[in-house]
Order: sequence, then structure tokens, then C-alpha cells
Amino acid sequence: KARKEIQEREEKFRDLADSMPQFVWTSDNKGQITYMNDNWYRYTGYAKDENPTEVVKRVMKPEFYEKVEPVWEESLKTGKPFEMEYQFVDPKNLETYRWFLARAVPTFDDNENIKQWIGTFTDIDDFKQLQTQKDKFLGIASHELKTPLTSLKIYTQFIEKNLVKQNDLKNAQVARKMDDQIDLLTNLISDLLDVTKIQNGKIKLNESEFDFDQLAEEIVYEQQMVASHKIILHPSKVGKIFADRHRVSQVMSNLISNAVKYSPDADQVIVSTGLIDNNVTFCVRDFGIGIPEDKQSKVFEQYYRVSSSEEHTFPGLGLGLYISSEIIKRTGGKIYMSSNEQKGSDFCFEIPKSKK
Ligand code: ADP
Repeated sequence: KARKEIQEREEKFRDLADSMPQFVWTSDNKGQITYMNDNWYRYTGYAKDENPTEVVKRVMKPEFYEKVEPVWEESLKTGKPFEMEYQFVDPKNLETYRWFLARAVPTFDDNENIKQWIGTFTDIDDFKQLQTQKDKFLGIASHELKTPLTSLKIYTQFIEKNLVKQNDLKNAQVARKMDDQIDLLTNLISDLLDVTKIQNGKIKLNESEFDFDQLAEEIVYEQQMVASHKIILHPSKVGKIFADRHRVSQVMSNLISNAVKYSPDADQVIVSTGLIDNNVTFCVRDFGIGIPEDKQSKVFEQYYRVSSSEEHTFPGLGLGLYISSEIIKRTGGKIYMSSNEQKGSDFCFEIPKSKK
């Protein structure tokens, strides 16, 4: 009777897994797949007696294999939930691949050892295609918006000069304000363009040797011109470094302008630079609204904005930190932060001083 009951229960859960639209699987604690639901076999056309772990490798687009393996190994070792997007061959058209979201979570025995992993592969190909369309649209739209904006800027400056000449200072000031707004718009569009460049792998670093200390000073000075806060620089002697000057300055400006933006009630922002071995650091400290701990890991993601009623009052697209982190990654460095809600945040990056 007991055996029958177990059998019935087993059948119930098997039916449950088999009727899922996703591919559902389990693996042992070494990562060997022990079960795949029917849907998987229907999709791939492979027989049930073939080693399912091998089948997964066979249908995966080869370029992903090297990336997936270490992440999966890391999860197996640490018990950290596994989540990755990659492509499996489309059995209906062997030349093409479909995007899947792979996820797995471990279950534990009484001694807290990993018993097995329960995983899914979810087809996200349609979603990915929409995303590609959106990115393409963003790329084209931002590119097309840039040209008229450049002309607009030239005309506005022309009007401003003429008004000054005619001694119409009141209207000249209006033209000046228009020019500032055009700059804001240009920055937003540049961010959108940068994002599309990053996605297409087209963000190129234009590296050369430059004076890091001088750049830090320049950026602090530039940001001070538009900030209501006092921006205090605690410099270290770093000297010449080899990197993309323009892109590094973009990251510095982004961190400082965020610090100012997200600390409306504070009156200062502290910038410090440092040199440890071959690594140059740049840190910005603010005494502002801070970021709740559970949101901190997300701030470097694309379009991510900490959303509470408070943050909604700050303008932005949620792209600056994403772009900054991509630039720093490509420079061979890292970007990181720590924060206390209502107390303030520290944002830092670290890049190599010279190419080894
Ligand atoms: P944006 O500022 O345009 O929204 P960012 O990518 O620069 O985009 O920042 C992402 C999010 O991280 C912001 O929306 C904000 O919620 C949070 N954030 C960034 N810098 C700070 C800071 N210094 N203090 C508090 N929150 C911050």
C-alpha cells in the first residue's frame, strides 16, 4: 500500500513536470542531469536513453559552453542559485538558435548538504527579439535626434551672441538657458547612443597616456560650475596613466553628478583619488539619500533606478552607472559602491595605471 502511494505521488509530480511549458530538469549535486521532462525530449528529438547532460552540451551554441561551465561549477560548489541566458539549437531549423533562460536552485538534506538541483530552461526567444528591435530603434532614434540638436545648438549660440551685441541682455539670458537645456538633451541622447554601442560591442576605447591628477581636477572644476554643493577634492599623486581619457572623465562626471543629484539636503561631496600598486582609485562620497541594501547590487544594471516615491523626483534614465561600469570593465578595472540609507553613498572605481 505504501509503495502504491509513493508510486501515485511520483506519477503526480512527473505529470506536473511533464505538463509544464518549460523544460524542467533535476541534477545530482555533481551537476549530472538525472531527469528531463517530456517537453525537452519533444523539443530536441533526442531519445530518453541518451545521457541528458551530454545532450544539453550538444544542443547548446558552442560559444556559450565556455561561459556557462564555470558559472554552473561555481553554483555546484557554493549552492548559489544558477541563472544564465544562452542559446540552444532550434531543431526545426538546425542553422538557427533560440534563446533560453536557464535557472536552477538547490535542495538540501538535513545536514545542509546539497541533495539535488531543480532547474528549468525557459524559451525567451520572442522576448529577446523584441528587445533587439527596441535596441535597434533606440540606436536609430538617438542617432537621428543628434543631428538636428547639433544645429539647434549652433543657432541658439548665434542668437545669444547677436542679442548680447544688441545689448538685449534679458533675452540673451533666455537664449543661454535654452543652450543649457540643449546640453542636457544632448547628454541624454549620448547616453542612449552609448548603450546601443555597448550592446553592439561597438564601444571602442581610445587609449593614450594622460595625467590622471590633472583630469580629476578638471572634472571637479567642471562639475563645481554647475553644482550647488561644495565639491572637495582630496587628491593623491597618481601621475600619468594609460587609458581612454574621455571615457574615464565620463565616469568621473557621472559619479560626481549622481552624488550631487542624490544628496539634495547636503552641502558637500568629497572626491578622493589614490594609487595602490598599479591600481588607480577614484572615489566619490556623498551624504545623501543612500540606497537600500537589497537594491545596491542592481544599480549598475541597465535602466535600473531605485524606485521609491523619493527617487522618482530625481530626473534620469538609469543608464549612467550602467555605461560607467561597462567603461570601467573594458578598461580592465572594477566599479563598486557602499551605501547607508539616509546617510549617504560611496561610489568608487579602480583601474590599472598602466597596461602590464
Ligand atoms: P540615473 O541617475 O540617470 O537614474 P544611474 O545609472 O546614474 O541613473 O543611477 C542608477 C540609480 O542608482 C539611480 O536612479 C539612483 O536610484 C541610484 N543612485 C546612483 N547614484 C546614487 C547616489 N550617489 N546616491 C543614491 N542613489 C544613487
